[in-house]
Order: sequence, then structure tokens, then C-alpha cells
Amino acid sequence: MTNFRMSIDGKPTDGSDQFDVINPASEAVFDRAPQCSHEQLDAAMNAAQRAFGGWHRDETKRRQAIVKGAEILAAHGEQLARTLTQEQGKPLVQAQREISLASFRLKDIAERPLPHEVALDEPANRIDICYRPYGVVAGITPWNFPLQIAISKLAPALLAGNTMVLKPSPYTPLSTLLLGELLNRALPPGVLNVVSGGDSIGEQVTTHPLVRMISFTGSVATGKLIARAAASDLKRINLELGGNDPAIVLDDVDPVETGTKLFWAAFANCGQVCLAVKRVYVPEALFEPLVATVARLANAARVGDGMDPETQIGPLNNAMQLEKVTAMVQEARDQGAIIRTGGERLKRKGYFFAPTVLTEVDDKMTIVAEEQFGPALPILPYRDSDDVITRANATPYGLGASVWSSNMERAREMADQIEAGTVWINQHMVLTPHAPFSGAKWSGIGESMGRWGIEAFLQKRVINMMLG
Ligand code: NAD
Repeated sequence: MTNFRMSIDGKPTDGSDQFDVINPASEAVFDRAPQCSHEQLDAAMNAAQRAFGGWHRDETKRRQAIVKGAEILAAHGEQLARTLTQEQGKPLVQAQREISLASFRLKDIAERPLPHEVALDEPANRIDICYRPYGVVAGITPWNFPLQIAISKLAPALLAGNTMVLKPSPYTPLSTLLLGELLNRALPPGVLNVVSGGDSIGEQVTTHPLVRMISFTGSVATGKLIARAAASDLKRINLELGGNDPAIVLDDVDPVETGTKLFWAAFANCGQVCLAVKRVYVPEALFEPLVATVARLANAARVGDGMDPETQIGPLNNAMQLEKVTAMVQEARDQGAIIRTGGERLKRKGYFFAPTVLTEVDDKMTIVAEEQFGPALPILPYRDSDDVITRANATPYGLGASVWSSNMERAREMADQIEAGTVWINQHMVLTPHAPFSGAKWSGIGESMGRWGIEAFLQKRVINMMLG
């Protein structure tokens, strides 16, 4: 076993206790993580508060430290990737990609400008808009992309001059603990603290009096709890929550080509992606060939241990998620859905669920109305394009959506009517620094990515000067 430790005030720190981390491909204990005590959390918060004074004053030093951190990460890519695969389940090659992307994002952010605006520049009156960091930011992450999401918070937060206390999911704490140890070789003590523990540590983090802003990625249910907890102290919140992304296929596409693209947009990372395609609407004329394509790919996908180089789709990350997906598929089957392929847990150790395609489903079934967050895709026929927009929008979620068509004008017209933070055309799940990523409705508050992602960690201070 490796001794995974928290990072508090720049020091690798053992917990007051330890908890097991399960390898989802074997259901065996992969390793143990430190349990953060109340006193240790206080120490992490105090360290972050102390470090803030020096950190936010020296922008050049911040940029240099972030670049150095990126280089250290890249040099330890293999160790991080193997840890990530064994606690999360994803294929090793995808874990490697997550780490190289993390290192790239750190380097990239270190070169991005910080905002400053002159709102008015007249002989008698000049107004400067300065952007100031908040102070101590709490980062709380889920288990599907532990490193990518940790970096998407800490890179802009630290560049902006904040310090951070980061808490990963108890299902996947190890790669983030390692990330913390590695980045602390480049950062001044206390700038980045990483603590681990169960949900109650998350609650203590979000209610801690020294925290001025909370950046959270996870479920809608927890997002609401955090918003409520933050309200008593009016802490700022940035919430990236769940989604139930519809893909709407128009009648002018090749169903095999589109079905092939939709397959990976729905089943990547075993369906455990906030902005994966979660339901597909297809015109009646294209329905059968498109369903047949997705089902063929689902049936052929190699499901297995992420450490096996042949594996394309790993297990679900944890027993609770496996139970949730199993129950949704079973409920749909009981209510008349047809399972075109898959439909059950694989008969072997590990949280494996066969990639599943369902038809004869309706919008009220849980598998369509809720976020399944797993490898089970409902495909629904439609006749009328106004009706399909109403059905796509009939959800409290609004993260992403996509429209598939060979006619950009038609696709664009439809995209304009969809209630979501991002509507893709002829693609899905593509994030870019050129655009803000945010959720409409229950899918989130605030933005990430690009300059918007940096501004999310800054507050405005107006300096209004009467000259002469
Ligand atoms: P979750 O909400 O159960 O947990 C997320 C994190 O919150 C964990 O670290 C957990 O320990 C912590 N937590 C739990 N209760 C808390 C509380 N009361 N106060 C503070 N922290 C608390 O989510 P999950 O199951 O880990 O992740 C899956 C969900 O995340 C899905 O709904 C998915 O769509 C969503 N997600 C969204 C995005 C996005 O960018 N919009 C990205 C990835 C995942």
C-alpha cells in the first residue's frame, strides 16, 4: 500500500484515521485514504488564510509556480494515471489523457491575462474596474473526472490569487491527494491544501467561516444543500451540477454515421459524464437504422478492467451507482421498455453493467426523466419538430444538448430554442477555452472555462476617480 497523505500548510499529513478506497473493477480494497479531523480541517483553512496575503500580491510568482506545477504533474503522469484508473475504473489510456490535459490546462492558464477594465476615461472622471480574488476558496469534486475537475477549479482560482482547500470525493480521493503532494512541491505552503474524508467533511468545508467562495461540482441534490449552507454566511458559490442532455436528430442525416457518433457521446467513461448524451430523439423514418447502429456498437464494446489495454469501457465507479442504474433499467423494463442490448450487470466481480440500449420508453420513465449517469441509453422516436423541442425542454436540467443535421440553418433554428448552457450542432461533449461552460436551470450557477472561468474566481472593485 502507498501512504497517501493530505496536504496541509505545504506538509504531507496523515489523517486522524483512514478509510478504504475500493477498486471498482475488482470490488477489493485498492488502498486507504486519510480521514481529515475537524482540527486538521481548521489547520488547512488557517494555512490557506495565512498564505493568501503573500500569494495574491505577486502575479509573476503565481504564474511561475503554476507552470512548475504543470511540469511536475507531467513528470509523474504514469503514477497518477495508474492511481486514477484503479480508484475510478476508467481505461488507463483515458486516465493518461486526463492527466496530460490537466498539465496542459495548468500551463495554458498560467499564460492567460487577468482582467482589468477602464470603464470611463474622461478629463474629469476616470473609472477603473479592478478584479480582486476572494481569499480562501473551497473546491469540492465528484468521482467521475477527479483530476480534470480539480484542475478546472484550482488552476483559475490560484491564478486569480485565491488560495484553496480542496476536498475530493471519498470514492476517488487518492489521485487528488497525490496531485496535492506534487503541486505542493511548486507552490508556497498553504496555497493549496487537500483534505480527504466523507460527505461530512464536505459539509464542514462549505460551512467553515474562513471560506469566502465555494466551487462545487457534483449532483443537483448536494448543490442545493451547499447553496443553502452558503446562504447563512453569503459565501459566493459556483455550482456545476448534473444534466440530462437530449440529442435531437433531424431527418436529413445519415443514421449510421450519426448513431456511431452518438454512441461514444453517451457511453464514454461508462456514461458517467455530466454532459454525456442521456436521451436521444430520432425521427420515425430513421429510428430503426439508428437504434441498430447504437445497439451494435454497445454490444461490441469491450467492457473490462481499466488496467487491461483492450478495455474500452470500464466499470461503474461504485456500488451505489451500479444499483441506481440497475434499478432504472429494471423499472423501464417493468413498464414496457424493450432492451435492445445489455440490460444487466455482468456476471463477474466488479461493478460492470453491460452497455444498454432501450426503446419503447416514454418521457415519464425515470431513465428518461432523470440523470442515469451510467451505460444505459434510451432512444425515443418523434414526429413533429415543435413537439420534440417541448419534450427536450421538459426537464429541470439544462446542462447541454445537441442537434444533428446536414442543414445548418435548420439545426441553428432548433438550437436557439433549447434551454441549456451549451447546445452543440453535429457534436456533443466538446469543451473549449473559447466558450463559457455553464448550466441552465438546475444544472448550475456560474461559469467555467476560458476567461469566464478565471472571472468566476474574481470579484470586481470599482475605483471611481474625480480628476481635477
Ligand atoms: P455528489 O454530489 O454526491 O458528491 C460530490 C462531492 O460533494 C463529493 O466530494 C462529496 O463528498 C461532497 N458532498 C456530499 N455531500 C456534501 C455536503 N452536504 N456538503 C458539501 N459537500 C458534500 O456527486 P457525485 O455522485 O460525486 O458526482 C456525480 C454528479 O456530479 C452527477 O450528477 C454529475 O452530473 C455531476 N457532475 C457535474 C459536472 C458539471 O460540470 N456540471 C461534472 C461532473 C459531474
